[in-house]
Amino acid sequence: MFVHLHVHSHFSFKDATPSPLQLAQRAKDLGMSALAITDHNTLAGAIRFYQACLRHDVKPIIGCEITLDTGHHLVLLAMNIAGYSNLCRLVTAMYLANPSKKTEASLALVEEHSRDLICLTACAQPQAITHAFLTNLKGIFFDRLYVELENHRTQESPRLLRQLAQLAQELELPLVATNNVHFLSPADHRCRDILVAMGSLTPCIPCASMKTTTGSSISHTVRTY
Ligand SMILES: [Zn+2]
Ligand SMILES: [Zn+2]
Repeated sequence: MFVHLHVHSHFSFKDATPSPLQLAQRAKDLGMSALAITDHNTLAGAIRFYQACLRHDVKPIIGCEITLDTGHHLVLLAMNIAGYSNLCRLVTAMYLANPSKKTEASLALVEEHSRDLICLTACAQPQAITHAFLTNLKGIFFDRLYVELENHRTQESPRLLRQLAQLAQELELPLVATNNVHFLSPADHRCRDILVAMGSLTPCIPCASMKTTTGSSISHTVRTY
């Protein structure tokens, strides 16, 4: 059974539509045995997601997609209660370090709180995931680092996916496929577009870079940033 490991709820403000409860319900309806929650720089939805998953007999995987000060994103997944605790400390430290600015973490801060966390390389921009960057991450997460492949079905996708797979092979890193879920069903895609337009203060016109994926039941993603 495929398990979604990169999933946003509406606690990823102006970026995703489902509530944590709806995500858990959808996983249950689709017969999924486990589901992750990985909102941007917050664990605000984690407890209600955890409780809803337990009610539906779905294994909750608590995580967070954090923003690095280099602009990279990382998906961090708690392996156990100690990992969850580290994740809470990391996110808190990110906010305290930048009270009035963008919430982001240095790699050093991530390293400080990296125990019992699994790291996925998240949404990759071409040229952003380099050999050097992955080497640094491997030095922090060791065998808990996975190169993430998201197929956005854009013109760029085949080349980017090949490039990431090649890097993973060179560094002997395992691959993981995700869908960077931002809404529950294709019908919600337009609603998500409107949220993103609100967040970026831009007119809401269909964006060429937004393509709904079809390979996965819950989900849809679409934008890499
Ligand atoms: Zn991202
Ligand atoms: Zn994401």
